[in-house]
Formats: sequence, structure tokens, C-alpha cells
Amino acid sequence: TPIIEFRDVRKVFDGPNGPIHAVDGVDLAVEKGEIFGVIGYSGAGKSTLVRLINGLERVTSGQLLVDGDDVAALSERQLERKRRDIGMIFQQFNLFSSRTVAGNVAFPLKVAGWPKADRDRRIAELLDFVGLLDRAHSYPDQLSGGQKQRVGIARALAAQPKILLADESTSALDPQTTQDVLRLLQKVNRELGVTIVVITHELEVVRAIADRVAVLEDGKVAEQGTVFDVFTNP
Ligand code: ADP
Ligand code: ADP
Repeated sequence: TPIIEFRDVRKVFDGPNGPIHAVDGVDLAVEKGEIFGVIGYSGAGKSTLVRLINGLERVTSGQLLVDGDDVAALSERQLERKRRDIGMIFQQFNLFSSRTVAGNVAFPLKVAGWPKADRDRRIAELLDFVGLLDRAHSYPDQLSGGQKQRVGIARALAAQPKILLADESTSALDPQTTQDVLRLLQKVNRELGVTIVVITHELEVVRAIADRVAVLEDGKVAEQGTVFDVFTNP
């Protein structure tokens, strides 16, 4: 069963020279428990797709179902709650530089109202999972890029989301670190059962970890299928 489903979704922005069809009639389904790749060049509509899924933008037309809810029908308050079911990681990590590693991971738990004892237990569990238990009291500036993204992953998973959106999450990393982070994402998927959507312009990333993939071009899905189908068949 799909956990994310786009049905003829369109998102139109007002541009200086007329309407911009950023997402232009997209149909796609992300199945529960899979790693789904969205690949496309700059300007293809990837960020808009992400912002629609997490409710930062509303669809112009069409239906977008996220974990059973038509997000277009949700109020701002309901969307805010929904957003907690979706973890996000980013190209530039987006960590709070004035907070320690533990403090960064604590943040979504504080927002969700977890009591301190539960929070501390959860933080230790997450840092252990991503291999950074010994860096709990370090600041982001003291970490390598790969370590920062591990903190990003721990923070994204803190409140136990069902979906993890990885938006160009390895684009700032060297090839070896990219491999390490992708392996960690696979562990998140297999051991925690989190559905992962990987959005990237890097073919190798999708090839390495996605079960299925959609190729986005000019706001449209040009191809969709298994990684084998999309990248092997002519
Ligand atoms: P990608 O992430 O694949 O680079 P985007 O989703 O950022 O693509 O952009 C798709 C198209 O929509 C681009 O032409 C971009 O300029 C346009 N666009 C995105 N967001 C806005 C916005 N808020 N206002 C106007 N145009 C936008
Ligand atoms: P902030 O940066 O938000 O002011 P801290 O970085 O000092 O706060 O710590 C955030 C939270 O993480 C606190 O609740 C703290 O008790 C907890 N914490 C710190 N180190 C660990 C650890 N090794 N394992 C689990 N929890 C920890």
C-alpha cells in the first residue's frame, strides 16, 4: 500500500513572465517500507515536490495522500501535526550551531513534549544507532560532514517518523562519506522500517540505494519504475 500518493498533482507559481508549472500533473506512489528515489536536474521540480509532501506548499490541483490523509484538506494545525510524522535531512545539514549534538537531537523531542527522562533515553539510543554516542557533547563545528549528517539523521528520526525525506542529503559529501551515509540510511530503512524518499540530482545515489525511482523533468514524471528498469533498459 502506498504511504505517499500523488494523483495528477499540479503546483503553479506566479512568475514575473507568467505562471510557472513547477509540478505539472505528477502521478506517483511511494510504497510503505521502500526506499524511493526522485531524480532530476536543477529546476525539474524536486524541491517543490518535497515541500508539497511536508505541507510547506499546498497543491494547486490534484490529490496528494500522505499516510492516509489528503493533505490539501488539512488545516494548518493538522498539517503541523502531520509534519511531525515526516523526518527531513538536508544538503547543508541545517544543525543548530549553538547546540550540542545531544541538544540538536533533543530539539524535536522538546517540541513534541517528551519528558526529560524519556528524552535523554531516546537521545542516547539514537546517538548509539548512528554511531555518535561519544560525541553527544560536541558542537556541530567540531564534527566532519559525515558526522554532521549522522546528527541530522538522528534528529530527523527522534520523534519516530514513518517517512524520512532526504533532500540532496549527500550532495555536500565526498564519495566515501556518501557511501557511509547511504549505508546508514539503508539501516534506518531495514531496522526501523522507515519509508525513505531520496531526492537527488546524483544518479549514483539513487542507483546505490533506491528500490524504485521516478525521473522528474520539467515538473513531469518522465519515467518511473525499478532502478533496474529505469537505468538498464534503453
Ligand atoms: P529543483 O528542486 O528540481 O531544482 P524546484 O522545485 O526548486 O526544482 O523548481 C521548479 C521550478 O519552479 C523552477 O522553475 C523554479 O524556479 C520554480 N519555483 C520553485 N519555487 C518557486 C516559488 N516559490 N516561486 C516561483 N517559482 C518557483
Ligand atoms: P541544549 O543545547 O538544548 O541547551 P544540551 O545540549 O546541554 O542542551 O543537552 C540537550 C539534552 O540532551 C539534555 O536534556 C541533556 O540531558 C541530554 N543529553 C546530553 N548528553 C546526553 C547523552 N550522552 N545521552 C543522552 N542524553 C544526553
